[in-house]
Amino acid sequence: MVAEQAVSLAASGQLPAYVYDLGALRTHAAHIQKALDFPGAPEIFYAAKANPDAPILQALAPYVAGIEVASGGELKHVRNVLPDARLAFGGPGKTDRELELALDLGVERIHVESPYELTRLAGLARRTGLEVDVLLRVNLAGDRSGVALAMGGPFGMDPELVESCRDILATAPWVRLRGIHAHLASGLSAPAMRRQSVEILEWARPWMDKAGVDQPEFNLGGGMAVDYAAPDQRFDWSAYGQEIAALARPGETLRIEPGRAVSVYAGWYVTEALDVKKAHGQWYAVLRGGTMQIRTPVTKHHNHPFVVLPSKTTTGPSMGGEPVTLVGQLCTPKDVFARQVPVERLAVGDLVALSMAGAYAWNISHHDFLMHPKPTFHYLDPDEQ
Ligand SMILES: *Cc1c(COP(=O)(O)O)cnc(C)c1O
Repeated sequence: MVAEQAVSLAASGQLPAYVYDLGALRTHAAHIQKALDFPGAPEIFYAAKANPDAPILQALAPYVAGIEVASGGELKHVRNVLPDARLAFGGPGKTDRELELALDLGVERIHVESPYELTRLAGLARRTGLEVDVLLRVNLAGDRSGVALAMGGPFGMDPELVESCRDILATAPWVRLRGIHAHLASGLSAPAMRRQSVEILEWARPWMDKAGVDQPEFNLGGGMAVDYAAPDQRFDWSAYGQEIAALARPGETLRIEPGRAVSVYAGWYVTEALDVKKAHGQWYAVLRGGTMQIRTPVTKHHNHPFVVLPSKTTTGPSMGGEPVTLVGQLCTPKDVFARQVPVERLAVGDLVALSMAGAYAWNISHHDFLMHPKPTFHYLDPDEQ
């Protein structure tokens, strides 16, 4: 499907292109939904920052309980695309305007990052006469070795700081404490995720008991592992769903907010080889576009997975049976998609489709660097329900 699309996009001069396979996205989301569809299993909010593209959000909406947004911009956008979606609003440095917007647009939960933010939110809710439901974002000190990204430092409150929220809440009854939020790391396998969830719940339950909240909610965060070196080895949602459900106690609501592991597999960045050459003993292929359009390989320091779709009509140079480094059109040695990966053949005019481009790809990229034409966007199975 993607291969056919790639050939027709090349023929019509539309490369580079993002191709989003919405059928594959629906299938994957349905699989996750099924793995979490029993009592005690966490409900899922998709983290929009992974990929907030409107057709992606619309395709996911039937399979998730809600959407997590991390800025006023995402909040407005998601509210516009999915007017009825349940929303949670997290993220550091929320401004008064963003908090006001959250109250105006009927966000269901605000994840509070600091005592100062809670104080401002309380003042705002009082002035507007609107009640607001919050989770306090806590940042636990536990060992995060081996994870892709540890969310230490400025995110949320350490257990000492979160104590000062008790007094603020005591004087602001219109701010309802509903639970605890913790997004501690990214890149965790199902067993590692379970261990981290135990750690969160062991800390959070007594805290909520002491605060007198009887039907507490625990948002266990996102960060489910994605392996770019082994695209077929996917996070074990079935094992995860069962293990987390077994941790739940009656009356509690567990929630998760994954992004990458939900949307990453549905996206492709499709481009073509403009030049193939050998320099200092190494083969290079220069591809149309660059990492200003898919920043993922630069941020992750990885070889991005790809497939070559050979062109039948190549007239330029070619190589084969040896490793090749795929670079883009930027004037910087950092513009590398993949380093020294063996290929059977790569010739000028061949199409190269980078897989796993459905998350933290286009929307984290510095598009305007060098002012090359923007990629075009295409959707497979757009209307299927
Ligand atoms: C980025 C983020 C997520 C999603 O993380 P993934 O690694 O994409 O699953 C969830 N929650 C918070 C608070 C985040 O910052």
